[in-house]
Amino acid sequence: MSSISITGLSKSFGATAVLRSVDLDIEHGEFLTLLGPSGCGKTTLLRIIAGLEFPDSGELRIGGASVLATEAKDRNLAMVFQSYALYQHLTVRQNIALPLRMRRLTRLQRMAARWLPSRDTRRVEAEIETAVQRVAAALQIDHLLERRPPQLSGGQRQRVALGRGMVREPGVFLLDEPLSNLDAQLRIAMRLELAELHRRLGSTFVFVTHDQEEAMTMSDRIAVMAVGRVAQVGTPSELYDDPVSLEVARFVGTPQINSIAAAIDADGMLVIEGQPLCRVDPSRQLADQAVTLAVRPEGLRLGRMGASNSLDATVIAVENLGPESLVNLRLDNGALLVARHFKESGAPPQRNERVTLGLEAGDALLFDAAGQRVRPPAVSGLVLAYA
Ligand code: ATP
Repeated sequence: MSSISITGLSKSFGATAVLRSVDLDIEHGEFLTLLGPSGCGKTTLLRIIAGLEFPDSGELRIGGASVLATEAKDRNLAMVFQSYALYQHLTVRQNIALPLRMRRLTRLQRMAARWLPSRDTRRVEAEIETAVQRVAAALQIDHLLERRPPQLSGGQRQRVALGRGMVREPGVFLLDEPLSNLDAQLRIAMRLELAELHRRLGSTFVFVTHDQEEAMTMSDRIAVMAVGRVAQVGTPSELYDDPVSLEVARFVGTPQINSIAAAIDADGMLVIEGQPLCRVDPSRQLADQAVTLAVRPEGLRLGRMGASNSLDATVIAVENLGPESLVNLRLDNGALLVARHFKESGAPPQRNERVTLGLEAGDALLFDAAGQRVRPPAVSGLVLAYA
């Protein structure tokens, strides 16, 4: 079994605390992505799992057993880097075969393999060749086995790097931004291939990226990291629909979630631009507090002007994406928002048009002044009217 359990893991480089008591459980066979901005500690965490870096404190278990004292080569995992780290002077066949040859043949056997192989060495070499063929066929690079890395495209090199990991049949695959060197089209194709490969192998995949779209499309679950902490772990939809903090809400989803500075008054009314709009906090647990109202672009409804308790905005640009348009808006207080307008709801509003914003309670997320999610009970119906 290749579950991974991380408890209280901390790591500093000099005075810089890079990981701060990270807790994370990754299930056997799961595709888990570590997602977060540059410098938040994703690679460091992956390197600790790999055994290439050591934590200052905490525990790491793979398949239930503590592995901090186990060397990288004995952890039954494969790591694929952004740079691929292929040997340029070796053919694709030799690159893929290398981990098995290192593992299964002694130095003497490897040296003798070319001139005077023993029967035993020939048998092992034949088994390795079978494994290389199988992996190359699965990755559709069997026609490239005689080429060297400089003669391959980025996508092909990436597959060779994966092949070199797969050939050992590891329980865990650790992938550090393996798609970031590819062009946009190939990246999308490789996303599908990686997700398919994961399904076929049934191994545990831990994937590092700062690209939320990559994370959302491939992962069973995502751990969003921020400054050395895991801010939230959940399925892509849990993170999108139910973020625990504004930080997570903003990191997941394109275009970014809209956030509007607001306040709750003494009566539990939501106040934006000084205008009490509707009661969102009947229990008054947030009375007299500054909050942020956040709403995804598809949760914002655009209507004609004129509703009584409405929030009005001006259309500043409309981006036509075919099946939908992104309507960019400016509130009268200067805040910029974006609304998704689907083709089936008719023509989108025009630039410079004034519109009324509306949203349902279910689409409105409230965050306190520290950016933590607040969930006042009994919010229902419309938060903002739309006409
Ligand atoms: P990126 O997406 O840019 O790769 P990351 O989230 O993977 O970022 P890490 O590579 O884990 O981040 O680095 C986290 C922090 O630790 C950074 O501030 C980095 O400069 C620092 N760091 C990483 N390795 C070392 C090291 N060997 N010595 C000193 N500082 C380091």
